[in-house]
Amino acid sequence: MRVVVLRLGHRLGRDKRVSTHVGLVARAFGASGIIYVGEVEESVLNTLRKVVDVWGGPFSVETAPSYRAVIRKWKEDGGLVVHLTMYGENIEGSDVLERIRSSGKDILVVVGAEKVPRDVYEMADFNVAIGNQPHSEVSALAVFLDRLFKGAELLKEFEGAKLRVIPSPRGKRVVRLRE
Ligand code: SAM
Repeated sequence: MRVVVLRLGHRLGRDKRVSTHVGLVARAFGASGIIYVGEVEESVLNTLRKVVDVWGGPFSVETAPSYRAVIRKWKEDGGLVVHLTMYGENIEGSDVLERIRSSGKDILVVVGAEKVPRDVYEMADFNVAIGNQPHSEVSALAVFLDRLFKGAELLKEFEGAKLRVIPSPRGKRVVRLRE
């Protein structure tokens, strides 16, 4: 199952750090790419591409002018669209994750910034809440991906990495795999 994250509503300047973190979480928690909608600073894209270069992938980093076009194309290609929102079906205490998993489809996970346009709720196959309280796109994405992959993503081997961490109870151990 391929999972790609669609990041809506990036505000230049203000959302630089959060949007970078959405990308970092997407990669580290098992998604295979991120698409930013609209204008986003080159530094956000470069930071993520550099992380992929050093710590491995595969992980694609793209931008798109319109979320509608991305969502439509994803659905035309047979994929499922999951929008993370505090107003959705709660991932805990409902069978929404089971319904998503059992589809066996590739998943486009949509996360917002400020107010998410109404049609996203309608275009999504599932509107999923990570609890029905407001928090953050970073935490919502991490919890969703971790539950989707049942923790297996935390053991993922990233391809083409230059560096790898050797887990250690104390201190930092890092090995260089290639130049
Ligand atoms: N108030 C905004 C709205 O109504 O669309 C949401 C702003 S929130 C800071 C930014 C994003 O975090 C949301 O678009 C959503 O993707 C995610 N988010 C925040 N809390 C969430 C929750 N409880 N469950 C799922 N996603 C959540």
